[in-house]
Amino acid sequence: MVNKLAEKITKNLAEVQQQLQQVNQEANANGVDGSNVTLLAVSKRHSIEAIQAAYAAGQRQFAENYVQEGVDKIQQLQDLAIDWHFIGPLQSNKTKDVAQHFSWVQSVDREKIAKRLNQQRPAELAPLNVLLQVNIDQDANKSGLMPEQVKSLAAFVDTCPQLKLRGLMTILEANTDEQQQRQSFANMRRLYQQLQQQYPASVDTLSMGMSGDMRQAVLEGANMVRIGTAIFGQRE
Ligand SMILES: *Cc1c(COP(=O)(O)O)cnc(C)c1O
Repeated sequence: MVNKLAEKITKNLAEVQQQLQQVNQEANANGVDGSNVTLLAVSKRHSIEAIQAAYAAGQRQFAENYVQEGVDKIQQLQDLAIDWHFIGPLQSNKTKDVAQHFSWVQSVDREKIAKRLNQQRPAELAPLNVLLQVNIDQDANKSGLMPEQVKSLAAFVDTCPQLKLRGLMTILEANTDEQQQRQSFANMRRLYQQLQQQYPASVDTLSMGMSGDMRQAVLEGANMVRIGTAIFGQRE
């Protein structure tokens, strides 16, 4: 029997990869180094079957927003060679689950959270990869650091042996036009370049761009995009 869900996800994934490749070439032609953009599949509120279908189509990096949902999926899919990223808001009473089960966390925006993740990351696991979330549009509805706070939190994370500072993540304000999106992403790139100069041995990841603004993000230098809807369809 033909599995419609798997068929749809396989097709969507191929389309997203093709778009990504095209826009990446465009970025490189403009002199923006977006080489090797990593595609992260955001599977929040999608089923185990949907994740298995994307995996069967070659996808290996997945992201979840809710701690309990993410941990349940990680445990059910522990036989698959997946890198799991946590990208949602993180409360201090949930840091332990993230430290024990994920390999990346992209939403670190305060020292208290970083400290707990460092203490709770099991010694036998590789350091937890950390991106600092920046509220680049200074949107009152969003979490994340103000741009001028990045330096001091980065310095703290860099001293934590069980954490590895890998770069920055952002989510733009909703309903802005393309011009404004480009501007915000360009501001992120400048912050990222400063961070990279300071920590050249570890910082290599600029995570920005979702289904609605992937193109603008890659044109401004994203090297990781987080795509949910364009791969899996609308969430429940
Ligand atoms: C849900 C989510 C995404 C994916 O959004 P889509 O519009 O479905 O591609 C990316 N990043 C974060 C932080 C999210 O919460």
